[in-house]
Amino acid sequence: MERSNTAYYAARDPLGAAGDFTTAPEISQIFGELVGAWIADLWQRVGAPARFRLIELGPGRGTLMADALRASRHVPGFQDAALVTFVETSPVLRAAQAGIVPGADHARSLADIPDDMPLIVIANEFFDALPVRQYGRGAGGWRELTVAAKDGRLAREPAPEHVREACPAGEAIAAMAGARILRQGGAMLVIDYGYSGGEAGDTLQAVKAHRKIDPFASPGTADLTAHVDFQALVNAAGTDVRAYGPVTQAAFLSALGIGVRAEALMRRADDAGRKIIASAVHRLTAPDQMGALFKVMALVHPEWPPPAGFAV
Ligand code: SAH
Repeated sequence: MERSNTAYYAARDPLGAAGDFTTAPEISQIFGELVGAWIADLWQRVGAPARFRLIELGPGRGTLMADALRASRHVPGFQDAALVTFVETSPVLRAAQAGIVPGADHARSLADIPDDMPLIVIANEFFDALPVRQYGRGAGGWRELTVAAKDGRLAREPAPEHVREACPAGEAIAAMAGARILRQGGAMLVIDYGYSGGEAGDTLQAVKAHRKIDPFASPGTADLTAHVDFQALVNAAGTDVRAYGPVTQAAFLSALGIGVRAEALMRRADDAGRKIIASAVHRLTAPDQMGALFKVMALVHPEWPPPAGFAV
């Protein structure tokens, strides 16, 4: 999964109608704008630190950050305080990000970013791209599933039964983020499809040209993902970091005012524009679209204020 995704992302921009899949920031500018408001609000309520690192993991085209920065440009001092760093391995996507957010730095991993100031980390559809391990329970007890080539085809061994998953790469990033949040002050916002602990079964999937395909059919040319176990990320971040959520994407975006923002945009749009905005809001929030499957979670320093969007 790791080798396949590295090859996959290194060679292409997979996003959008002409690509393989579409993400929330590519559906509507409102998504990034609300995340920008979330960041600026938290920064202000923690006392508007003069400098902080605004880090995005796996930023794709950079659309979310561009929308977030534009939405927060009227918050006094915010833009000067935010040092934007993108964590990205794909050269193609790095180039896209540099074009749309020209002032941003790039790093290959969170570990390469200096831990010298507070940090706010954003990750939308990043953790799902990290490699998982799968374990299956068969007649002989639990076994880790492996991938083997047989007759020129890849397949899992043994055949997957009662599958449980773990994502050590994601847990390592959550552990590092948790340690940095405690030491430097900060927060991390994770948005992804997933579940919270317990049994999710076999969630490995491959998507190509907006359709699900066999994950073993063409390694390196389809997007491989697995659902994110939010509870595993919370556990990895450590008990001293405060966790909020996960709540559904619909609940989070409603709490942040997606309805109000959509109305404001609609007032300036013509009929066709209004239809586009309404359909985008529907895709982001309807329970049978992205509203319920996608979850939002925040990990926050215990002395920072509760972040917006997680009304109790
Ligand atoms: N957040 C964006 C893109 C999601 S696609 C959006 O919402 O549109 C996944 C992103 O994670 C891509 O930018 C991909 O290149 C990046 N990525 C995948 N694996 C990575 C890894 N191990 N390290 C850093 N970036 C990675």
